[in-house]
Amino acid sequence: MSREDYEVIIGLEVHAELSTKTKIFCSCPTRFGAAPNTQTCPICMAMPGTLPVLNEKVVEYAVKAGLATNCEISRNSKNDRKNYFYPDLPKAYQISQYDRPLCEHGYVEIDTKEGKKKIGLTRIHIEEDAGKLNHDEFAGGSLVDLNRAGVPLIEIVSEPDLRSSEEAEEYLRKLKSILEYIEVSDCKMQEGSYRADVNVSVRKKGDPKLGTRTEMKNMNSFRSITRGIEYEIDRQIDVIEEGGEVEQETLRWDDVSGKTFPMRDKEDAQDYRYFPEPDLVAIKLSEEYIENIKNTLPELPESRKERYLQEYGLSEKDANIITASKYLSDLFEGAIKVCNNPKAVNNWIISDISRILNETEMEPIEIPFDSKQLGKLVILIDKGTISSSIGKKVLEELFENPRDPEEIIKEKGWIQISDEGAIKEIVLKVLEANPQSVADYKGGKDKALGFLVGQAMKETKGKANPKMLNEMFLEELKK
Ligand code: ADP
Ligand code: ZN
Ligand code: MG
Repeated sequence: MSREDYEVIIGLEVHAELSTKTKIFCSCPTRFGAAPNTQTCPICMAMPGTLPVLNEKVVEYAVKAGLATNCEISRNSKNDRKNYFYPDLPKAYQISQYDRPLCEHGYVEIDTKEGKKKIGLTRIHIEEDAGKLNHDEFAGGSLVDLNRAGVPLIEIVSEPDLRSSEEAEEYLRKLKSILEYIEVSDCKMQEGSYRADVNVSVRKKGDPKLGTRTEMKNMNSFRSITRGIEYEIDRQIDVIEEGGEVEQETLRWDDVSGKTFPMRDKEDAQDYRYFPEPDLVAIKLSEEYIENIKNTLPELPESRKERYLQEYGLSEKDANIITASKYLSDLFEGAIKVCNNPKAVNNWIISDISRILNETEMEPIEIPFDSKQLGKLVILIDKGTISSSIGKKVLEELFENPRDPEEIIKEKGWIQISDEGAIKEIVLKVLEANPQSVADYKGGKDKALGFLVGQAMKETKGKANPKMLNEMFLEELKK
């Protein structure tokens, strides 16, 4: 049998760090990148006798995420202890949620080759992040940094509804964009604030029973997730084809060798000896509380997309690209407010801005200039102050050292030459220097005009107004 005879089953457990100012059970800041152990206190360092206090924002953000993903919100939820030992977990237990998560039974809709598909969400619960081990040669061992200990997380568990690595990636992108829109997480994958445990199994087509799954822990790039899934599919099919059985285990994906390695046998819920957290009260939510959060939900990507199709006449493809990221979408809308030219802003985002993001591997959130500056750039071109080729140079400048585009072109001397006298002077000079082209044009070769305009552009370093140049050449050539 071959790969075509198998069906792939994937379920994802996504961890997203919430962008609250303080940690989940103490008032330490959550900022990323601070010096080790400078954002800690007796509570998140697990000193004996300390008590946790639940950060209300964490509940609010989790409920917001639940509402944005069509979940039912539990009116009566609680925290539980999940016991395990690891050096980055000073309490030797993690406060999480076991049998009464805040949100359940939701879904996220994704686009697939076969059309729209709903991916079920089993649950969303709140929990605390662990610290970090830094393996350090000089120290002759590992150093623990507890800045991350107690940073709030939501864990979003999907049903095993995904059927390929493409669907898994589409789901992860969609979920990421929803969390960005509702502003509960910055989802910076390279900083680990959006990461996934990837469960994969295969079964023979038609088999009603799910196959045994393996789980790859803590994956934080789309590329490794895709590669990891593809590798696991092939490996599991090989095991079965050779008459063996896939073992349920936790794996580590290694990007360098492109392989998975066993980390440990899969633990069961009973291994964690869950029990209700005795130091925290139950989380009871009123209808009014939930209703208030519902009212703060912003417009989500799907609805923005519809609006872009209707109001601005964007193509489906462009609207998809722009709304996939809240930051691009905000940039788009902000710039339109300034310049009132949606077509032009759309073009800048889809072509030049997307290209630069790709080339520099920059995320939209890292774009250094703001929507006003982009809007002003469009205005300068629309007014004819600069040509669109100078516009591209201004855009590069905005990425390098963002400031008012008007200031940029003054400073660089990029203002378009639209003075009739000046244009005429250039045209006459170019005509005189290129008698052959003039003769060609007069002999019926229309292409020669393009060459002459090009020469004039070269002469003025792209600053001449192209429309005026064209007209002036035609006028002179007619004489
Ligand atoms: P745990 O929390 O111990 O990892 P769960 O039962 O909560 O276990 O399942 C975790 C994830 O594994 C869920 O996203 C679920 O969809 C997925 N999953 C469960 N069974 C399978 C399977 N046979 N193949 C692929 N994914 C699966
Ligand atoms: Zn603390
Ligand atoms: Mg798991």
